Amino acid sequence: MKNRNIYILGLFLFTLIYACKQNDKTPEEKVKEVKTNNATTEKSEKIKATATTTRHKNAWSYEGETSPEHWAEIEANATCDGTHQSPINIIEVDTKKEVSGLKEEDIHYKELTTIYSVTNNGHSIQYNFKDDENYVSFKDKNYVLKQFHFHSPSEHTINGIRYPLVIHMVHQSSEKDFVVFAFMVKEGEASKPFSFIESYLPVKEGETKIIEKPYDFNESVAYNASHFYYKGSLTTPPCTETVNWFVFKEPITASLDQVKALSELMPKNNYRNEQPLNDRTVLLSK
Ligand SMILES: [Zn+2]
Repeated sequence: MKNRNIYILGLFLFTLIYACKQNDKTPEEKVKEVKTNNATTEKSEKIKATATTTRHKNAWSYEGETSPEHWAEIEANATCDGTHQSPINIIEVDTKKEVSGLKEEDIHYKELTTIYSVTNNGHSIQYNFKDDENYVSFKDKNYVLKQFHFHSPSEHTINGIRYPLVIHMVHQSSEKDFVVFAFMVKEGEASKPFSFIESYLPVKEGETKIIEKPYDFNESVAYNASHFYYKGSLTTPPCTETVNWFVFKEPITASLDQVKALSELMPKNNYRNEQPLNDRTVLLSK
């Protein structure tokens, strides 16, 4: 008990002496102290801001600590750990032979579709459409063609085969549901759409180039061809599970140089790994 009293008394005296010392400081000393404190706060805020910028810029990626395995932890409000995720490995013998419901007359693309711009968003090379003039009707809903982009190698695999490149054509409804067409690309002859696409490359990371040139998409792709259909998710955060996936069975060709020109502008291996199918069925239409 005695010891405790001495301790409290000591503490009291120490506080008193310290308080007096503070008051002994000259006005100059006080100003200097305030300035130093401000400078420290400013400096730490600057560091914080830089960290936020870097963090935001690299919020998710395809490698290291922000790679696909970590998307569920690093992306708030994302559904990357959901049970109906994409991509998947499509095993043809396990598919159900049934029409997907997508018919040729459901593709409402203008004869000449204007590509508005190309962007290198640091994750992929993306070509954008400005107007809502091209759309796809599917199950009583209209989905407007917004953009197409690339992954190298492909995200979905067919019977375990991963193609060197895939094109994703993204259509969105007013309710934020998606129809995505996936066209696998294999190496072969140079193709006309790729020559057009590539004439606007390279694009540096973060850069957007205005194109505003028409291209006939109907000519290059047979939308009534055999395709796999299932319901999955966006393959990048927020991994929303509102995507109608149409993966076309026959790959289109591009030359090795054309594949390389695109791949080299994107992060190496910008694909998400295979996700479990769970209770879903993949349809093979035609
Ligand atoms: Zn994609």
